[in-house]
Amino acid sequence: MKIFITGGAGYIGSYVAYLLRNQDYEIAIFDNLENGHRWALKDSRFYFGDLRNFNQILDAIYDFKPDAIMHFAAYIKVEESVNDPYKYYENNVLGSLNLIKAALLNKVKYFIFSSTAAVYGIPKNIPVSENETCMPINPYGQSKLMVENILKDISKSSFLKFGILRYFNVAGADVKAKLGQANKKPTHLITRVLRAALGKIPYIEIYGTDYPTKDGTCIRDYIHIKDLAQAHIDVLNYIKEEDKSDIFNVGYGKGYSVKEIIDIAKKITKIDFPVKVGKRRKGDPPILIANAEKLKKLTNWEPKYNKIETIIEDAWEWEKYLNSNPTLFEY
Ligand code: UDP
Repeated sequence: MKIFITGGAGYIGSYVAYLLRNQDYEIAIFDNLENGHRWALKDSRFYFGDLRNFNQILDAIYDFKPDAIMHFAAYIKVEESVNDPYKYYENNVLGSLNLIKAALLNKVKYFIFSSTAAVYGIPKNIPVSENETCMPINPYGQSKLMVENILKDISKSSFLKFGILRYFNVAGADVKAKLGQANKKPTHLITRVLRAALGKIPYIEIYGTDYPTKDGTCIRDYIHIKDLAQAHIDVLNYIKEEDKSDIFNVGYGKGYSVKEIIDIAKKITKIDFPVKVGKRRKGDPPILIANAEKLKKLTNWEPKYNKIETIIEDAWEWEKYLNSNPTLFEY
């Protein structure tokens, strides 16, 4: 089966590409390398292009003739989306529309879309299931929900079948595969905590200790990149075998607070890095935990790396590897 991967030079896309190749799929990557890295492509077939340019994406899909598309390319920073919503709607929504049009013109039947728990906004029910009302509270979440809705409508009026994956908090890496997140200015908690342990940032700031949670800090459901990546393949198999479209949460159903993550990271790294308490960050829901029963029940997916220690240990190995290979920050 031939799979076309947008954003395949990025953190998640590159790891899904790696798994697909190990499982004997034929793949091609499309990426503008704005946030992705050339080294993450390995020696995959590569189309350099930007989704906002319809002809570039049409030509690539016409040339590769895939059976399925996995769409990862998007901007992902919540705060930036609040300050520059146009940038998010243009890349994430217009870019996806161009891609879907190219898929329809080339009769690509299966479309796997990388979505986010940010589509729920501040959910009423925890753990949150796929049936929860979607009310995003920032343009990033809004842009992902718009694409979900576009896919729903288009699949009703065409042959297209979609699988939507709503990710919770993705973390971890695979040092053996030499793949992980390489961001000069990371915003994610686990990466920042480990950069503080390495002394790359002077301290870790806790964004708010006055949330209605057991220790006052926000709770998240962290999922290992290895399990998250495999979920894409399992969902693709499901929509293909069942010949239907569906939406899945991807998480473990277990939450950890910011303080808990810091404590576990101190144990794993054996470094007592400085921690400061700061103000709340805008737009952070207090608790986000997935109900991921649907994914486990309907597809072959089973969590394999779901110990928080494994996630943080693997992320730590990766941060040390990055630290000793500074050229990885350049493409
Ligand atoms: N967080 C924090 N300090 C940091 C980075 C993140 O306290 O330096 C908190 C953040 O407010 C949120 C949680 O850690 O409650 C997870 O944030 P992250 O950016 O990793 O993922 P998000 O849940 O926003 O997708």
